[in-house]
Amino acid sequence: MIDLMTPRRRELVGRMAALGPTIAARADQVDRDAAFPYENYADLREAGFLALCIPEEHGGLGADFSTYALISEELARHCGSTALTFNMHTATMLLIGQIADDLSMGDEERVEHDRRRTAVWRGVVEDGTIHAQPFSEGRAPGETAGFATQAVPVDGGFRVSGRKIFASLSEAADSHNVTCMVEGDDRVRFLGVPADAEGITIQGDWDPLGMRGTVSKNLLFDNVFVRADQELLPPGCFDQVATRWPYFYMTLSFSYLGIQRAVLDYTAAALRGDGGATERRDHPQKQNGWAEMRLAWERSQALTYRVLGEVGVDPTEDQLHRAWSATVTAMETAPEVASTAVRVCGGRSLLRPSALERMYRDARCGATMLPWSVEVTLDRLGRAGLYDD
Ligand SMILES: Cc1cc2nc3c(=O)[nH]c(=O)nc-3n(C[C@H](O)[C@H](O)[C@H](O)COP(=O)(O)OP(=O)(O)OC[C@H]3O[C@@H](n4cnc5c(N)ncnc54)[C@H](O)[C@@H]3O)c2cc1C
Repeated sequence: MIDLMTPRRRELVGRMAALGPTIAARADQVDRDAAFPYENYADLREAGFLALCIPEEHGGLGADFSTYALISEELARHCGSTALTFNMHTATMLLIGQIADDLSMGDEERVEHDRRRTAVWRGVVEDGTIHAQPFSEGRAPGETAGFATQAVPVDGGFRVSGRKIFASLSEAADSHNVTCMVEGDDRVRFLGVPADAEGITIQGDWDPLGMRGTVSKNLLFDNVFVRADQELLPPGCFDQVATRWPYFYMTLSFSYLGIQRAVLDYTAAALRGDGGATERRDHPQKQNGWAEMRLAWERSQALTYRVLGEVGVDPTEDQLHRAWSATVTAMETAPEVASTAVRVCGGRSLLRPSALERMYRDARCGATMLPWSVEVTLDRLGRAGLYDD
């Protein structure tokens, strides 16, 4: 098995771990207020992490997909909401960077794409621009095709109209990178809509069960002008991602792997009696619960890490099925270990402010996230290998 932890990755994960206690100290307030973690983003920017997946020659940290996964896991160990929103930002950087490099496009398109992404990267490195990915519309089950949001070509660009639901970073992003369609063209278009453009409304309340700091409200676009050079992938490339670089859709799961780890950290401290609490580790029942949690987490992490060792363009069917399996496992193991942890840590772990009580709620959210929600992915896995003919 490939050792994922190269010296560079170890160093970057260590840098994120060093920020961890500061981020963790804010997690309760972020959750309680259902407020975006602006201070965490200032710290992430300061430490260079907003530019994690931007090439070094463009001022970034030059991380690839698998490095991002390890960083995301570490960040979620300290605050799930911050990690999940950091995913939306960083997944766009991967999409226009490492992933776009692997997709087919014409020579002229590639030169133009390079010019456009250089401008995006400059914005992140120099101005701390934050990117969001509102794709969901609540209508297409797969959410990888057939979007209702329309882009009408006009002089110099497009006029975008439509509605996105669950738009994480709705109030914080500088660019809402939306999926949309141009009438008469069946290719998905990927446009960076500037958050300060006229015609954008943030709609609705945000008072969810968990992942409250993501502030994922609805976004309405009413005839919003987007410049032609704000189309962040050449037409047709987003469609290629679904078939040729499907790992893009598993990026969310790394946050839930990190939450599992956070739950283990909490439980270990509770059983050892760290911080003055009563020591409980000498009960065989507690040790049994702790062992169950460790097994579940080790299984989930091992499967994800195996996938990280084979990530790339054009996976084989087996590799794709493994990526689905790793995603389902991470999304379902997170609430499983959080639930066992409540049993093991006892009733006092349910009293707010309790980090475990927050993690228990955050952990449950992963399974619902499309396009690789647990139900959609189980549905695909349930047919894979049986109906190939
Ligand atoms: C905290 C949080 C943050 C989010 N942030 C973002 C974001 O930044 N950007 C974004 O684009 N989206 C985001 N989402 C949205 C998310 O990806 C889903 O689109 C949303 O949760 C789906 O809502 P729904 O359950 O009403 O979907 P529905 O489409 O109504 O699905 C209902 C259920 O049926 C299942 N289902 C649907 N179709 C099938 C099928 N064919 N086979 C089997 N099962 C199926 C789904 O898995 C789901 O469990 C976020 C969601 C959450 C909870």
